[in-house]
Amino acid sequence: MTKHVMIIGGGIVGCMTAMELVNRGCRVTIVERNQIASQTSGESSWAGGGIILPLLPWMYSEHVNALTNNGANFYRELSQRLQRETGIDTNFEQSGFLLLPKFDIEAAQAWCTRNQHPVQSVKASSFGVQSESGEDALWLPTVCQIRPPYLMQAMRKWLEQNNVTMLEHTELIPLKQTPALTEWQTVSGETLTADQFVVTSGAWSFELLKETSAKLNIKPMRGQILLYKPQKNLEQMVYREGFYMIPRRDGYLLAGSTLEDVGFDSSVTEAVRNELSTKAEAIMPELKNQPIIKHWSGLRPGTPENLPAIGAHPSIENLYLNTGHFRYGLTMAPASAQLMVALMLGETPKIDATPYACAG
Ligand SMILES: Cc1cc2nc3c(=O)[nH]c(=O)nc-3n(C[C@H](O)[C@H](O)[C@H](O)COP(=O)(O)OP(=O)(O)OC[C@H]3O[C@@H](n4cnc5c(N)ncnc54)[C@H](O)[C@@H]3O)c2cc1C
Repeated sequence: MTKHVMIIGGGIVGCMTAMELVNRGCRVTIVERNQIASQTSGESSWAGGGIILPLLPWMYSEHVNALTNNGANFYRELSQRLQRETGIDTNFEQSGFLLLPKFDIEAAQAWCTRNQHPVQSVKASSFGVQSESGEDALWLPTVCQIRPPYLMQAMRKWLEQNNVTMLEHTELIPLKQTPALTEWQTVSGETLTADQFVVTSGAWSFELLKETSAKLNIKPMRGQILLYKPQKNLEQMVYREGFYMIPRRDGYLLAGSTLEDVGFDSSVTEAVRNELSTKAEAIMPELKNQPIIKHWSGLRPGTPENLPAIGAHPSIENLYLNTGHFRYGLTMAPASAQLMVALMLGETPKIDATPYACAG
């Protein structure tokens, strides 16, 4: 009989997990308390920048890199497939990443060589970008970006076309301890049943599971982004000291972001608006005369060392977790979904699953 899997949370991680399960012949339901692919305040997936690489990947463990490298490699083919099958263009693009000092340039070059990432030492001025120090910058020409709201719309359409049931505006209540999960209640009192359940509830995962997974270490980490439409845009993504700018192909420019430990508050602040616009203007002085078109925030599912929990719940049968992707969930989602589904189907995964095993 076809296995019925219920996914709790319709962000990028939930949608990619659903896609992978459909590809493997499962029947899938996604339960989402808002609307999948809507730009509702708070959820992380639509709000992200869409750089398909960690910021300074050499700062992270090989376990983070295993997911981001494998996820990144999958995006070109995924966006072509989504375009072909849904008609929606995700704006996947190889726009390259210019890294301005200061950072550990030797570690960066060693990482690029080890991971076969083309890299060149360059002068920022040759890219028309201001660099205060005048030191060499690094140019990573093969780094790609995707436009998260378009990616989410394409994923939603693909899932609809492939008969995934979407229970939207449906919120599940925090789970009670049980040896095996066969049903889960909604806040409006309905009982939902399935053969297996996967929690992909992002920053809210701990709220949902705290009675059953006291050691699950996930908390919201807010990030704010500004949107410009400059007269002349950057041609490549630019990074400097924790701050980045991402040019979109229709002339928009994102400037972000922040890492704020403020609980579930997804408002935007004047202080951050000023901070981000000052950093943006230091790189592109012409932005001083440009209006900020939009300012938004998202709540990332923050985890120590950016390591997600992917695997079976340690004590509840039929329950799985794929959550806590923190700063790089867009990049990691395809590899994370493949790993999750391999574990659910009892296969040997391509990536060693041990580092992501779920705490009790
Ligand atoms: C400002 C910013 C910039 C970023 N930039 C990048 C980047 O450039 N590259 C990159 O790779 N990553 C980036 N990220 C990180 C990335 O966006 C996240 O890691 C990723 O979106 C997490 O996806 P998710 O599906 O786990 O969470 P979410 O998108 O938050 O989805 C979780 C879903 O679960 C639902 N939910 C929660 N509780 C319940 C419940 N009880 N019942 C039903 N539904 C529930 C929520 O409504 C939500 O839709 C960025 C994030 C932010 C905020």
